Amino acid sequence: MKNLTAKLSTTTPPEIPPGYLNLMGYIDESEVNGPGCRAVVWVQGCQKGCSGCFNPDSWSFDVNQLIGIEELANKILNNPRNIGVTFSGGEPFLQASGLAELAKILRCRGLNVMSFSGFTLGELQSKNAPVDAQKLLSQLDILIDGPFVETLAIHSPYSLVSSSNQRVRVFNPRLKNQLNWASDSLEIHIRSDNTRVSTGYWGHLADYWGNLDLGENYDMKKYQLK
Ligand code: SF4
Repeated sequence: MKNLTAKLSTTTPPEIPPGYLNLMGYIDESEVNGPGCRAVVWVQGCQKGCSGCFNPDSWSFDVNQLIGIEELANKILNNPRNIGVTFSGGEPFLQASGLAELAKILRCRGLNVMSFSGFTLGELQSKNAPVDAQKLLSQLDILIDGPFVETLAIHSPYSLVSSSNQRVRVFNPRLKNQLNWASDSLEIHIRSDNTRVSTGYWGHLADYWGNLDLGENYDMKKYQLK
């Protein structure tokens, strides 16, 4: 889904209060965003401006949903079906410090942590890497790195990456045999206020981001359509 009116509202990420994250959205119990059943945290803000990005509304660095790291950790841990969490965006590594802190809490409680990034692993390990990139890298079990390149797009629901330049880095050997989450499912999460989040390969065809927020009465029902 292209949104030609989307703009990078600022080129510099804003100051986020210590102990908080600026989110675009959140869901529990997703089965199409990483191994097993997991929470997904979409952060707000990205500078890449990739042509063909499925999620241009995530580009703005304006504050969308500020949430305390401990509050978010408890939210994820309170759902026993979440065996892990995936960070997506937006650009997770532009909030590396807060996400590293969140990841550390969750890993101590036995969850695995995966992240997407529009930076390559080499960029994240270089001297020009975003602040605290190494801190977040050290907490990851899986990283999918590299920007979406429209001319290299892989139009397949069975691919773990969206374009052929992207790489799947499995840092935790125990997850090597669990790289099987890509599917032709459309996952729709319906909250108690009737707003929806659609995700998975076909999710961009649905009414996706317009309904994302952290409603206090989030009461998710989930459907998978094949
Ligand atoms: S890095 Fe990801 S979120 Fe950012 S513009 Fe590229 S595809 Fe979109």
